[in-house]
Amino acid sequence: MSRQEIESFQSEQLVRSVAQAAKSPYYASKFKDFGVEPGDIRSRSDIGKLPFTTKEDLRLSYPTGMLAVDPELVVRMHTSSGTTGKPTAIFHTREDVENWAELMARCIHMAGCTAKDIFQNMSGYGLFTGGLGLHYGAERLGMWVIPAGAGNTARQILLIRDFHVTAVHATPSYAMHVAERMLEGDDPKSLGLKYGFFGAEPYTEEMRRKLEELYGLKVFNSYGLSEMNGPGVAFECPQQNGMHIWEDSYYVEIINPETLQPVPEGEVGELVLTTLRRTAMPIIRYRTRDLTRFVVGDCPCGRRHARIDRMLGRSDDMLIIRGVNVFPSQIEEVIMRHKWLGGNYVIRLSKKEALDQMTVQVELAKGAFDGSVESLRNQRAELARQLREQVGFSVNIEVAEPGSLPASEGKAKRVIDERE
Ligand code: ADP
Ligand code: ZN
Repeated sequence: MSRQEIESFQSEQLVRSVAQAAKSPYYASKFKDFGVEPGDIRSRSDIGKLPFTTKEDLRLSYPTGMLAVDPELVVRMHTSSGTTGKPTAIFHTREDVENWAELMARCIHMAGCTAKDIFQNMSGYGLFTGGLGLHYGAERLGMWVIPAGAGNTARQILLIRDFHVTAVHATPSYAMHVAERMLEGDDPKSLGLKYGFFGAEPYTEEMRRKLEELYGLKVFNSYGLSEMNGPGVAFECPQQNGMHIWEDSYYVEIINPETLQPVPEGEVGELVLTTLRRTAMPIIRYRTRDLTRFVVGDCPCGRRHARIDRMLGRSDDMLIIRGVNVFPSQIEEVIMRHKWLGGNYVIRLSKKEALDQMTVQVELAKGAFDGSVESLRNQRAELARQLREQVGFSVNIEVAEPGSLPASEGKAKRVIDERE
């Protein structure tokens, strides 16, 4: 689609989507309170007339306040992971499920996969959208799909090897864990994987490169959230320079979370999404709390769907330590530069007298300790220096044995805050 085609399609779909949303009890009363009627929305340029929707609104309308169709038409529901509180529930008609599979297939195909590829989904199935979401998309593309689910690392490795799997999907933290488990006896490159679809949690460019080196595959960042179906919202093309966000299905805004106005193009803000094609449960101007920016300019791959940058994190991930704003990704970036360290880490926050303390727990990489305490001390001092430079205050470092920090099968819990 050209830009013009995308934009006129968006206008049509927005009108339809708002009218559909108004059929739910929640939006019927919300539009009324806000003084807007579906008829006021004639094109995409009317988006600003519509109210925002927050996670709190979804929680308040739980369980079915945002359902916009007869329950008989619903064929599936999912929930969010509940990372930041009570999970939210999302509903789909048959057509919604098909459209979602189509989007997901589009992502996987964009990465370069075809029906000849063998795909192992190492993501949790069930209510979590990373399981069935990727599964339906890969099947739609005609891939041979192995629904391995999360966990049981030994079996994951066995299946990949025995069935000559070429593409996998997982959280980056779990992919790192699998690689490190393998390194205990073997080289992850020997698996012959070509494509890694990693997402559902933030990770840095440095972490991507580390995963690519360990496995010898190409990593494609995958972004989605259950409120917008799940995975399949935005995905990297082989350029690996931002994720194309499917604008025929989502209206995309990036706003300043304080003023609620759009940020200048290319600046970081909160991602706001409107479903354009979902029928069972349209969501209007959903404030994702995820921070990103538009990648400016046309992508050399030729696709004209906008690109968004790797997530900086959620606005609620931001840590305030001694009055300084710190994102866990800033810590990760530094850790990944150190070859003597593994890919897992935990950030612990505590208080000593009145002062915030940050302790970063890292793991030695397998085989990295050569017996010299002196060189370990130097490496540690260098890490401490770089972390201090990054965040602006001193950070305690604890170095643990390889594989000794708690590993995650899904979204990693990177921060433990013990300050009250
Ligand atoms: P929850 O919000 O409870 O974690 P979801 O499973 O719906 O439930 O997760 C969606 C969230 O996961 C997104 O809003 C975002 O914060 C995070 N996320 C998903 N994919 C990525 C990604 N590729 N990079 C960074 N964060 C991501
Ligand atoms: Zn592209």
